[in-house]
Amino acid sequence: MSNLEIVYNPDSILRRGGRRVRADEMHTEEFVENVSRMFSIMYARGGIGLAAPQIGWHVNVFVINVRGRPLHSTHGLLFVNPKITTYGKLVKIKEGCLSIPGIEAKVTRPEKVHIEYDIISKDKERRSLDVKGMTSRVIQHEYDHLDGRLFIDRLTKKEKSKIKQELIQQAKNAIESKKRKIKKLKKLEEKGN
Ligand code: ZN
Repeated sequence: MSNLEIVYNPDSILRRGGRRVRADEMHTEEFVENVSRMFSIMYARGGIGLAAPQIGWHVNVFVINVRGRPLHSTHGLLFVNPKITTYGKLVKIKEGCLSIPGIEAKVTRPEKVHIEYDIISKDKERRSLDVKGMTSRVIQHEYDHLDGRLFIDRLTKKEKSKIKQELIQQAKNAIESKKRKIKKLKKLEEKGN
């Protein structure tokens, strides 16, 4: 898997989610490379979180860095096979997504999260964290991606109606760009014959 790029809504790839990562997989060169690529893409796009399915890699992996800059790369966190429990009061916060560029909307989610996850180590190790604030928010957003869920699925009717036109336009643009790609491929094919 060398050509990992961000997949945009409404591509059905985003709906496929991820599968559990096996312990032996975590030590392969491919795994480490893909994770490092995820961090690079997240920083390059100015994101604060990225889930593997967003680059067409269907595993239960996501990375976050609420500071959003490689300068603060020590704040970067990797979560493999996460399992979360949410708690605390419900809070409404504006969210965006690298797979839905330029669109933001308010999403209601619990304030706090307890997360258990695997870390890359020789002994199969599982850690856990209790977080709130922005970190909790990003974790819940990325966790949804592993289930093929997007933040736009969680909007109230009112919130969704505010961004409806933009979503339709993005879908239209995606179709046009696919058409252009197909045209290009056909031309190449004709030339080849
Ligand atoms: Zn997202």
